[in-house]
Amino acid sequence: MPAREWYDEGLRFECTMCGACCTGAPGYVRFTEAEGRAIASRLGIAYERFIEGYTQDAGVEGLERSLSEVQTEFGWDCVFLDRQRVPGKAVCSLYEDRPTQCRTFPWWPEHLASPRAWQRLGRTCEGVGRGAVVPVEAIRVERERQRASTTDR
Ligand code: SF4
Repeated sequence: MPAREWYDEGLRFECTMCGACCTGAPGYVRFTEAEGRAIASRLGIAYERFIEGYTQDAGVEGLERSLSEVQTEFGWDCVFLDRQRVPGKAVCSLYEDRPTQCRTFPWWPEHLASPRAWQRLGRTCEGVGRGAVVPVEAIRVERERQRASTTDR
């Protein structure tokens, strides 16, 4: 039986496609080589061209490359954030092939560390506290997937 967590009853979350998690201050989006190859294949280009054209120095210790960011009126958007496709929304143009970091959001260990951390996330992510309750079992799976992806590489 897993240890009890403060979110044992689950948490409400529903993404509104506001795009706030994919922009803002400069940051980084980590990807594995397998994820990068899947993105390159989706784009119909060689992996090397993907690295040259769509990634940048991550600027953090222990991580070589990040998906690129481009400056927009909203902040530093992920290069794959599409603000044109759906009026008033920001959608991921890689959605089915997005990296683990994006798939597991918002269920990152740091956001789940305490009720206060979750509330803090709610200041920038309007999906926090919306929609149906996501059960703790599903949250745990995503949390551990994110944890593994940041320690395994
Ligand atoms: S900030 Fe939250 S609600 Fe907005 S796109 Fe990201 S996950 Fe969805």
